[in-house]
Amino acid sequence: MKDYSKMTRAELLARVRELEEPRRTTSPESAGSKATKRTPEQSDSAERLRAILETAVEGIITIDERGIVESLNPAAEQIFGYRAIEVIGKNVSLLMPSPYRETHDEYIGNYLRTGQAKIIGIGREVVGQRKDGGVFPMDLAVSEVKLTDRRLFTGFVRDITERKKVDARLAELAQTLVEKNKELETIVYVASHDLRSPLVNIQGFSQELTRACSRLKSRLEDGSRPPGRPDPELKELLTEDIPEALEFIQAGVAKIDALLAGFLRYSRLGRAALKLERLDMNGMVASIAKSMEYQMQQAGAQLRIEPLPNCVGDATQVNQVFSNLLDNALKYREPKRPGIIEVSGQIESGRAVYKVSDNGIGIAAEHQGKIFEIFHRLNPGAGEGEGLGLTIAQRILERQDGRIWVESQMGKGSTFWVSLPATKR
Ligand code: ADP
Repeated sequence: MKDYSKMTRAELLARVRELEEPRRTTSPESAGSKATKRTPEQSDSAERLRAILETAVEGIITIDERGIVESLNPAAEQIFGYRAIEVIGKNVSLLMPSPYRETHDEYIGNYLRTGQAKIIGIGREVVGQRKDGGVFPMDLAVSEVKLTDRRLFTGFVRDITERKKVDARLAELAQTLVEKNKELETIVYVASHDLRSPLVNIQGFSQELTRACSRLKSRLEDGSRPPGRPDPELKELLTEDIPEALEFIQAGVAKIDALLAGFLRYSRLGRAALKLERLDMNGMVASIAKSMEYQMQQAGAQLRIEPLPNCVGDATQVNQVFSNLLDNALKYREPKRPGIIEVSGQIESGRAVYKVSDNGIGIAAEHQGKIFEIFHRLNPGAGEGEGLGLTIAQRILERQDGRIWVESQMGKGSTFWVSLPATKR
């Protein structure tokens, strides 16, 4: 016997039609006699039909013109969680959630009157309802079977919950990919821009050095100068021009080195193994504060820490995020007033949300998105830094289901928010 469980939906539909064919073409008289005596072909065909229904992986439900269920195969029993006997004789709308449940009779009536089909012969995605009330997405294809004296509708159903989940996950991944691509583009742009300026310097000052060397050479070869007399140009070349050019070249090389080291740090983050655990944030922030005590004192700044909720994250990396935020709060303080830095936090809808606020220089609204871009610094001259801290913080948090965002007012101060999964109670 053919393995019906391996048949595609289209093949099954075709096969059911084929097997129904002898019944359709039977004359009324022979149909009458069929009840009492079947020909061998009819028995064979009925047997095959039964085999299809029993073994198909598709749920197959037959209903009459009033929507009353006539048969339900084992696959459909499994999909809807009903036994066939619980459904046979009942309206098929039992297998649908509201509002379809209420409108299904009208739909069949409409179709019988007008012949206008929405699903019959077309097939589409609908929702079904299980015995336990659970609603799920399903593919439904309905074929109409015209018998001599009445019509039947055969519905082929397939639970597509898993497929929908995969589709949703794929859409999510595609979105992440778009975002990652954008991020990569920014990085490439910034990298080429930031690496170019020191390179231009190196190139310019190397040419300067070449010129200085040839001037040096010609001075040394100049035999017209009386011996023992110092040459002032030679002195200028050796004490000013050449050392200056070398200084610029070295600074350029150091800048490129720092940028490349930054890239390396950033790219390593993506590969570092994460150890997610319950984090005691009171302990962690207190230890960061302790390590910054001297700088705070020197700056005359005050650090206030409120009781913090625990969260789940990687200890080393979360420590890096908070160290950077506190470091920035101190670094970008407003020199005209004593710095006040506050750390607080609370649980909000299953998340631990922390706040690091300062009364520093603040960040203009149009720059608030940019500060998370790699190497982006608003005032390159202000304090030490390479514009990598917040980029790394964002990346760290992204990898452990965390988020970071900023609220700030120019001249007044900034608040950085960090959200991480809260610990389960
Ligand atoms: P870095 O501090 O090394 O420059 P970050 O990535 O940590 O790099 O910060 C990027 C930029 O965001 C800083 O250069 C600064 O302009 C701005 N910034 C960060 N934190 C603050 C803050 N608390 N107050 C004002 N500006 C800030």
